[in-house]
Amino acid sequence: MAQITAPKGTQDILPKESGRWQKAESIMRELCAQYGFKEIRTPVFEHTEVFVRGVGETTDVVTKEMYTFEDKGGRSVTLRPEGTAGIVRSFVENGLFNEALPTKLFYMIQCFRYEKPQKGRLREFHQFGLELFGAPDPIADATIISLPYRLFKKVGLEGISLELNSIGCKECRAKYREALIAYFQKDEEQLCPTCRERLQKNPMRILDCKSEICRGIAKDAPLITDYLCGDCSEHFEAVKEYLSIMKIDYRVNPRIVRGLDYYNRTVFEFVSDQIGAQGTVCGGGRYDGMTEQFGGAPQPGIGFAMGMERFMLVLEQAGINLEEDNGCDLFLIPLGDRACKEAVRIADELLDRGVRVQYDLLRRSVKAQMKYADKIGAARTMVLGDSELDEGAATIKNMADGSQKKVALNELQEEFEQ
Ligand code: ATP
Ligand code: MG
Repeated sequence: MAQITAPKGTQDILPKESGRWQKAESIMRELCAQYGFKEIRTPVFEHTEVFVRGVGETTDVVTKEMYTFEDKGGRSVTLRPEGTAGIVRSFVENGLFNEALPTKLFYMIQCFRYEKPQKGRLREFHQFGLELFGAPDPIADATIISLPYRLFKKVGLEGISLELNSIGCKECRAKYREALIAYFQKDEEQLCPTCRERLQKNPMRILDCKSEICRGIAKDAPLITDYLCGDCSEHFEAVKEYLSIMKIDYRVNPRIVRGLDYYNRTVFEFVSDQIGAQGTVCGGGRYDGMTEQFGGAPQPGIGFAMGMERFMLVLEQAGINLEEDNGCDLFLIPLGDRACKEAVRIADELLDRGVRVQYDLLRRSVKAQMKYADKIGAARTMVLGDSELDEGAATIKNMADGSQKKVALNELQEEFEQ
């Protein structure tokens, strides 16, 4: 039969890589625990409306990238393209705001976007992210930013820069919007078709366009930072001050507007110049109005999402190997029926005690079993043949230095006590 391959834009995370992923995820989980963020798991698919409301009607994600289909009951559902919308839906639906505020959540999820696959850009990808509800103060913005920063520091990653901006509130943006429309109208004919559409609906999105021509036109566009109202600028200044206290370097980049609607005030990205065009490892911002989009009472919100694949690429590029020690403490090499049964009995006891013990399943020769033990990185091996069983003792070989030690079979457990 013909072979079947994985769909375009998806990738298998094979056993030789999954250890690194697990290690990265466990570092992220530990950091979240330190900061007091708890995991939330929401459905992989939602009513399409969740993303239209939570991501925004004019975004690329909603207009072009969603995996939307009708289920057998005729409902329109969508595979989640990102994490925030479903979490805000859940926050409102489950009344999480009734519990102690602020609500501190993290997620590790698969996301789906119909995009042109490239390095660092897939159709199924993974995100690690945080959401913090109930805290309008700039101290929350800086705290959210500090977690990815601390993650990079913890794994020894350097050269990921923090780009920071404030896109103000509705009032600041109303004035800015006018100024932007006036600016872009001069070159309206030259904008890409998408940006021509964006011009009246959401002109800030033009600043986010990837087309060279639009980028060129946008070069001298008015800057949001010149339009911030008093409150928004004070908020922005305070975020910067907290970041300085945390010794986090940043660069104010007034062109960062972020891809999703409903952001306000702080927006930020962590960018690497080491992994090609898809250099944004992590992006986030404040979204104070979003709970209302889901019929909830207004609650401030702020969060970020990190692309796991891009994070793993940056690590690889930097030569940082997060391989988890999934090794084998003991590999038993039984020879013959009697020994196989004894090996299973010995392994059973050791496994109960937490020892990582494996044994041959293929009835191979000593030589072949030794070779296999070496391949899987077994720390020690033990050959079990009839003479060892008769004697009630066997030799444990240390695979690293070749040293050997004779041990009574009924005293094996002591050997592996930590
Ligand atoms: P980009 O400008 O690269 O398309 P975005 O603004 O669409 O990014 P977000 O929606 O902010 O991205 O998602 C947060 C992070 O998720 C990104 O910074 C990136 O690291 C990752 N990400 C987004 N889309 C993809 C994808 N298709 N494949 C892999 N990672 C992705
Ligand atoms: Mg995108």
